Amino acid sequence: MTVHAIDTAARARGLFAERFGAEPAGTWSAPGRANLIGEHTDYNDGFVLPFAIQHRTHVALGTRDDGVIRVVSTFDDSAVEVSLAELDALFPARRDEVVEWARYPLGVAWALLAASGQGAGSVVGVDLAFASDVPVGAGLSSSAAIEGATSSALAETWGLGLDRIALAQAGRTAENEAVGAPTGIMDQMASMLGRADAAIFLDCRTLDAVVVDLGFDAAGLELLVMDTGVSHSHATGGYGDRRASCELGAELLGVRALRDVTVADLPRAAELMDDVTFRRVRHVVTENQRVLDTVRTLREQGPAAIGDLLVASHASMRDDFEISVPELDTAVDAALRAGAVGARMTGGGFGGAAIALVAHADVQAVTDAVTAAFAASGFAAPTIFPVTPSAGAGRDG
Ligand code: ADP
Ligand code: MG
Repeated sequence: MTVHAIDTAARARGLFAERFGAEPAGTWSAPGRANLIGEHTDYNDGFVLPFAIQHRTHVALGTRDDGVIRVVSTFDDSAVEVSLAELDALFPARRDEVVEWARYPLGVAWALLAASGQGAGSVVGVDLAFASDVPVGAGLSSSAAIEGATSSALAETWGLGLDRIALAQAGRTAENEAVGAPTGIMDQMASMLGRADAAIFLDCRTLDAVVVDLGFDAAGLELLVMDTGVSHSHATGGYGDRRASCELGAELLGVRALRDVTVADLPRAAELMDDVTFRRVRHVVTENQRVLDTVRTLREQGPAAIGDLLVASHASMRDDFEISVPELDTAVDAALRAGAVGARMTGGGFGGAAIALVAHADVQAVTDAVTAAFAASGFAAPTIFPVTPSAGAGRDG
C-alpha cells in the first residue's frame, strides 16, 4: 500500500470519528480505473481493457442498531440519513429527493439488498464515512470507486455472500437507476477485479474477465493521465445520444448489439443507415477489434508495441464518434510529438482525461510539451500524473 492510500484511509477514519463520535469497525476501499483501450464498447456488449489505478476511495464503517443508513464524505458537507426500509420507495422513483453524491452509496445499499434477496429488516444499520484521492470527473471513475468501496463494506458487514461480479453489478444498478447515469459495467468490473501490473480484458456480454499482464515497468514505460480539467457529465447530453445511435445501428443491422458486427460487415452497414449513425457504428466495431488486437499484441510483443492501436482509437473517437474536445486533441497531439509511444482520450468523452504511454526517459519532455501546448492554446493548465496498475476493491489492511 502506498503512503498516499494510508493517508486517505486515515482521512476516512478521521471523518468517521469527527462526524459520528465513535471509532469505525473497519475500513474498505476500491480504486478508480483507467481504460487502456475499448471506449463506448461496454454498453454495446463488446470488449474493454481497463486497469485499476492507485487512487482509491476509502470508507470507514460502523454498525448501528436502528436500521438506519447514514453517509458522510470529505467531498461534501451534507450528511444523509435514511431508514434501510425506505430505500425501496426512494429508488428509482424518488431519487431526486436525495442529494446527488449520496445516491451512489445509498443506491448501492438498495441494489445489494435487492440482489441478495435480503429484506431491509434482516440487516444491521450502518454509518459510512468516505474519503477519496480519485480525481472526480476526470474519466477515472470516482463513481465506481465509491460504489466499490460501499459494496465491499456492506456485503461483508451484512454477510451477503455475493461474489465480486455481483458487487460490480450492484454498482452498475446503483449508477443506472439510483443516480440515473446510463453507463455500462466496465468501471465497476475494473474496480472490483484489478490486479497489480495487469489489465482486465472484459467481455461485457458474458462478463468473462481475463487478467492480462501489462509489464509497463519492465518495459521502461509509464502511463500518464493528462487531465484537461474540462468537466463532463454522464447523466446528460452526448453520452445518451451516442448510446441511442448505437442502439439504432444495431436495430438497422438486425443484431442484438454492435458486438455482433465485425469490420467485414461495415460496407453493408454503410448502405443501411445515415452517415452519422454509420460513423458511430464504425467506431464501436473497429474499437472492439482494436481491443482484441491490443490483447494479442501485449501477449506477443509487449506494451511498447501497442502505440499505434492507442492512436487509432483516439482518431476514431475524434472523427467517427465525435466525443473528443480541443483540449483532449491537444493533449494527445502534443504528447505524441514529444515522443509518447501512444496516446488517446479515455473515459466517456466531452472532457476528462487523455492517457499517454511514455518511456521513463521521455516523461518530463511529454509533460512539458503538453503543458506548453495548453498554454499556447489559452487552455487552463492540465494536471498530469502517472497511474500504476493496482489491486481491486477489498478490506484495508
Ligand atoms: P467520474 O466517475 O468520471 O469521476 P462521475 O460523474 O461518473 O465522474 O461520478 C462523479 C460523482 O460521483 C461525483 O460528482 C459525486 O457525486 C460522486 N462521488 C465520487 N466520489 C465521491 C466521494 N468520495 N464522495 C462523495 N461523492 C463522490
Ligand atoms: Mg463515473
